[in-house]
Amino acid sequence: PFDVLVIGGGPAGAASAIYAARKGIATGVVAERFGGQVLDTMAIENFISVSHTEGPKLVAALESHVKDYAVDVMNLQKAAQLVPAGSDGLVGVRLENGAILSAKTVILSTGARWRSMNVPGEQDYRNKGVAYCPHCDGPLFKGKRVAVIGGGNSGVEAAIDLAGIVAHVTLIEFDAQLRADAVLQTRLRSLKNVDVLVSAQTTEVHGDGEKVSALSWKNRKDGAQHRLDLEGIFVQIGLVPNTEWLKGTVSLSPRGEIEVDARGATSLPGVFAAGDCTTSPYKQIIIAMGDGAKAALSAFDHLIRLAPQ
Ligand code: FAD
Repeated sequence: PFDVLVIGGGPAGAASAIYAARKGIATGVVAERFGGQVLDTMAIENFISVSHTEGPKLVAALESHVKDYAVDVMNLQKAAQLVPAGSDGLVGVRLENGAILSAKTVILSTGARWRSMNVPGEQDYRNKGVAYCPHCDGPLFKGKRVAVIGGGNSGVEAAIDLAGIVAHVTLIEFDAQLRADAVLQTRLRSLKNVDVLVSAQTTEVHGDGEKVSALSWKNRKDGAQHRLDLEGIFVQIGLVPNTEWLKGTVSLSPRGEIEVDARGATSLPGVFAAGDCTTSPYKQIIIAMGDGAKAALSAFDHLIRLAPQ
């Protein structure tokens, strides 16, 4: 069996694998797609000590760093089931291809995915004006006009954040009212360069072939169609953790995030978690890596306390 089996090959999983392997213990990584969300990212400007990089470049560096160690990387493999430790103390992971792996400790780092609007043009202009992360991409729209889609806490926080950087923000909410906390709504409405549209449904993203130029929205009250000229669209309608396969095993929050403590421990002994799939706040590369390192050190602490076999 593995000493540490990491499920997920994004920044959190890569950091976990490196920290575990550096302890000289048997380490494996199962990844549906090594690199994770970073593969879908263009400019990265907040990875501290690196002024600018690109997703695929950072993934290549992650992969090469992992390969400096004797890590068994099982790429293009999807975990389908977690089997909590029985009397032998080993945690099992069943892969979609039927194989069953066992390990003394498991680190879950399966990440998350942004919910998309599913309107024409959205995928075509992803990373060309359609963005999902205001902390990451906000500064790219300095002095420009943007829309934020979604009036929950994350949408309103994004609109407040962006209003300090861009020229103008239009917040677009599908429902008849915003769902964000009242204090955030008050703050939002005090900002002079923000408009709020409610009962508004985004229907299409327009562009010139290279980048976003406008969006169409429908007034859900009277059905009228409108067009808004802008350069950026931040979609803030939810980040969905990749934890469907874990239901009924580790404790999940109501949003489906794996509940972890400050050490990355989950509700199951020997099972740790890190990165965007957990309740750890602020979903960022550097945070996922820090969480991954922490989970690996916690797994190692757990291992050295196990009775010798
Ligand atoms: P992920 O990167 O999501 O990796 C999850 C891994 O788990 C993948 O390898 C995936 O294939 C695998 N996996 C999922 N399910 C299974 C399964 N059942 N079995 C096996 N493997 C599985 N952050 C920044 O800090 N700066 C930025 O500029 C930035 N820009 C971004 C731009 C975009 C377009 C997006 C989408 C995100 C951006 N982020 C940015 C956020 C950042 O990418 C994430 O916070 C980070 O990748 C999270 O790392 P992770 O390892 O937790 O998860």
